[in-house]
Amino acid sequence: MAFRDLVNQDHAVMLLRSAARGDRVSHAYLFAGPPGVGRFDTAVAFAQLLNCERITEGDACGSCRTCTRIPQGQHPDVRIVDVDRGLLLDPADTTKTAIGIDQIRALRREVVYPPYEGRWKVYILVNADRMLAEAGNSLLKVLEEPPPRVVIILIAESTVPMLPTVVSRCQLVRFLLVPAPAIEEALVARYNVPKGKARFIAALAGGQLGKAITWVTSEDALQMRERTLELLQRLERADALDRLDAAEEMAKEKDALQDLLDIALFWYRDVLVWQESQDESLLINLDRKDTIAKLADEIPAQTLTARIDAVEEAKEAIRRNVHPRLALETLFLRLTPPPQPTRR
Ligand SMILES: [Zn+2]
Repeated sequence: MAFRDLVNQDHAVMLLRSAARGDRVSHAYLFAGPPGVGRFDTAVAFAQLLNCERITEGDACGSCRTCTRIPQGQHPDVRIVDVDRGLLLDPADTTKTAIGIDQIRALRREVVYPPYEGRWKVYILVNADRMLAEAGNSLLKVLEEPPPRVVIILIAESTVPMLPTVVSRCQLVRFLLVPAPAIEEALVARYNVPKGKARFIAALAGGQLGKAITWVTSEDALQMRERTLELLQRLERADALDRLDAAEEMAKEKDALQDLLDIALFWYRDVLVWQESQDESLLINLDRKDTIAKLADEIPAQTLTARIDAVEEAKEAIRRNVHPRLALETLFLRLTPPPQPTRR
């Protein structure tokens, strides 16, 4: 994973490349932003660039002995601390949910020695916003008197839970969600995903490339869509009791609810878009064009808009911790069939 392989993180890449080129490398960076957008991959690419044996056009070669060992965690000068993956500096540490004091103590013992074989020692601390306060305070001592040729990269979702004194001693690099078209393009170009499927997965990933890539290799996203569309289809003819049953059934999928509701949202949106534009390049469910065109003939725009509002409100209610089953019952009762044309 060299810089040229990253998707849509031009700001971070520019900043880090110019630091490496001008030898103005900061002793600590804080990569802040949502998960799944390339924070870790950028940290690895930076560690590679700092130590690569054959830098080409301002980027790591990606293939020398140094470049290949770094992502595998096998380079002695590039150390990754990721509690969730069991990557620890002090393997005897028993703190299993966050970076604890033992990890930082081990780091402080190590940083005083110069790099073994590379040019820079790089420490990548994953989920640094979950670092315990005692560990944060200990890390601060390193940041206050940084040893030469050491770069510490903290990866965090938000700076809010972190010690302000730690944050202020790092160069902040912000990472943003990746726009759906950039994810779609990457899925097609790099993972050979067919365009129709790529469009849908990119939309559902909500800006998190990492999520999209996981879905490419599994059928989960497509199966989720099958289930949701089947359910929406069933609701077209369901009575009130069936709707309550459907809500109970869907509420069981606690972790996937926002995704399932997004799928419903994209679906009604597509039907509406088709009614207004008949432009297939605008469809998210590009591979379902025929069904969408058929529904566009059957369901009036007013009904579609009301359904979209209802789904948005259900999503918001669940985010605010309304009981999922309750929110879904309300939603499904609102997803009523289009009014029948009245004869005079
Ligand atoms: Zn290299």
